[in-house]
Amino acid sequence: MAAFYIFVFILGLVVGSFVNVLIYRVPVRKSIVTPPSSCVSCGKRLTARDLVPVFSYIFLKGKCRHCGERISPRYPLVELLTGAVFVILFARFGFTAPFLAYAYLMTILIAVFFIDIDHRIIPNGLVLAALAGGLVFFIWNCVNPHPQVFGDDKWWTPLAGLLPGSGFLLLVAILGSLIYRTEDAMGMGDVKLMAPIGLFLGWRFCITALVVSVFLGGLVSLLLVLTGIKKRKDTVAFGPFIVAGAFVTMTWGREITEWFFNYINT
Ligand SMILES: [Zn+2]
Repeated sequence: MAAFYIFVFILGLVVGSFVNVLIYRVPVRKSIVTPPSSCVSCGKRLTARDLVPVFSYIFLKGKCRHCGERISPRYPLVELLTGAVFVILFARFGFTAPFLAYAYLMTILIAVFFIDIDHRIIPNGLVLAALAGGLVFFIWNCVNPHPQVFGDDKWWTPLAGLLPGSGFLLLVAILGSLIYRTEDAMGMGDVKLMAPIGLFLGWRFCITALVVSVFLGGLVSLLLVLTGIKKRKDTVAFGPFIVAGAFVTMTWGREITEWFFNYINT
């Protein structure tokens, strides 16, 4: 069994190095296939021994082999994060269709997490890639229902997930622009991002993911203001909280939802 976990973790590290490529190339509209990776400082092409996830960073002591320029520790961190996410999903689902589906979705969402922090955008290409994967999972679920994942075995449950999250955020965006007369109270990127998440989680757990995202967003914003890192009027990107909320829900959504309804019934 341990061997499976090690395999999934290494798979996550390798996919994580692809997530790094997405993070640095998608926002500037560069191809994610060519050219091969090179040092951002000296431009020397990186070879296989420079591209082993996490290990290359450790062996190179975080510096470029050629020019000695410091390599951002975020590269190995993104790889480790992706590895950890894959292991947690595997612990929950084993080698099943939901594991593959959610590992695919999280690969895209981890890229979205960092791109939204860096650039305050959620690229349409990534939302479309997520939607395409969600469509495959939807069709698979029509043939082979997953009530343990969606909460029931109705074929349209994933499809109905397109509505609640995106609809709610769209309402917030419209109200925000009316009240504050500003475009960016709630970005349209956030509205679009909730659509594939709803497709992957189904309507029931899409609502849970939305609630968890808003809760995490409020909590972290409060901490950022209290610690003086952000001022009260600063805005915080909401995309990373949607990503965190989606991950927490795909892994522990059932328990959270049951706990919540038990709580309000007592
Ligand atoms: Zn270099």
